[in-house]
Amino acid sequence: MIDDNYRQRGLRNNLVKKLRLKGILDENVLNAIGKVPRHAFFDNALLSHAYEDKAFPIGEGQTISQPYTVAFQSEKLEIKPGDKVLEIGTGSGYQAAVLLELGAKVYTIEFQKKLYEHTKDFLPQLGYKPFFFFGDGSKGIPAKAPYNKIIVTAGAPIVPTALTDQLSEGGILIIPVGDRAKQQMVRIKKQNGKLLKETYDDFAFVPLLGEQGWRNA
Ligand code: SAM
Repeated sequence: MIDDNYRQRGLRNNLVKKLRLKGILDENVLNAIGKVPRHAFFDNALLSHAYEDKAFPIGEGQTISQPYTVAFQSEKLEIKPGDKVLEIGTGSGYQAAVLLELGAKVYTIEFQKKLYEHTKDFLPQLGYKPFFFFGDGSKGIPAKAPYNKIIVTAGAPIVPTALTDQLSEGGILIIPVGDRAKQQMVRIKKQNGKLLKETYDDFAFVPLLGEQGWRNA
């Protein structure tokens, strides 16, 4: 059992207030962020930073995304309980935990073996049980498709056609697209078989590697 005390819950409530002020309006998303014990994802040395609105290193050169980014992408996905969601880039598992709190059925894929193994072991200890996959998520997971929602949590050079192909009718894909330094957040909705694209602000993610991502690390 992880220690989730009064102080940590207080810090988490303050984080939720900050996200609201930054423009996150979806109460379900804010509630979900208010429930996931983000401090449990941090090494002891970094514990005091757990409820800052910042990304942090989690080992293997990777990061746990900034809470605002997690909230923003989650909000844009318009998750309904029971939605089947594919997440590309499991990382620490924090985003997957937020999606599970929103009532989604989550399939998450990670390309780094050590991270995959760590998170597959760790996340269920917090009570969060997505389906874990190891491999190149830039190709999606065709065997489990279609998905109501797809979220990419690494910066892509293009929108992989594999992912739009694996969206169900009415489905939504949220993906940061750009160069290695910064990416524009892109949302794609599949309606009557057509892909409708909306764009938002810039973000900075680690690169999406793989066949339909960046070819070299
Ligand atoms: N969602 C994560 C969280 O909540 O902590 C943050 C993800 S981190 C910003 C991006 C992750 O994408 C890294 O763990 C990286 O190894 C992974 N990644 C990069 N390319 C990938 C690919 N082709 N397939 C699956 N995962 C990939």
